[in-house]
Amino acid sequence: MQSLVSLHMMEKALTKACVNTLNVMHDDLSKLADSKGAYILSMHLDSPTPIDIPKIKTAVIQSGTYFYVGSAYGRGGIAARLKRHFKKHKKIHWHVDQLTSAAASAEAFAVPNGNECELVETLISSGQFKTAMKGFGNSDCRLCDSHLLMLND
Ligand SMILES: [Zn+2]
Repeated sequence: MQSLVSLHMMEKALTKACVNTLNVMHDDLSKLADSKGAYILSMHLDSPTPIDIPKIKTAVIQSGTYFYVGSAYGRGGIAARLKRHFKKHKKIHWHVDQLTSAAASAEAFAVPNGNECELVETLISSGQFKTAMKGFGNSDCRLCDSHLLMLND
């Protein structure tokens, strides 16, 4: 339930900010063709999940719904990246892999030609979302505190 409420709020916040998105589930990635751009991956954790990130040391992410903001401008674009995120068994490479491997559900909002840091900024300034864990997913970026967000209280 929590998950559906969060997804609805995400959709509303994006619409309000005039961000053009495509809502995609794991089984309909084909509608993205080879679009490149940014995406927001929604994940629901049923139980507290330990994560291991050297910079943060070992931490636990509490159960709940989280949003990871990323971008995919390489080969295969957003669809190829989301396909990887939606796959549960994989070699852990990025911070977010530790969450997608544990998440009970995942779906995404694709933002063709979008910029991940602009999306983070848009969502934080909507007042409805906040940083879930400082230093998560933003190793390549100097603008954001984190690319992992959650609903604001
Ligand atoms: Zn950023």
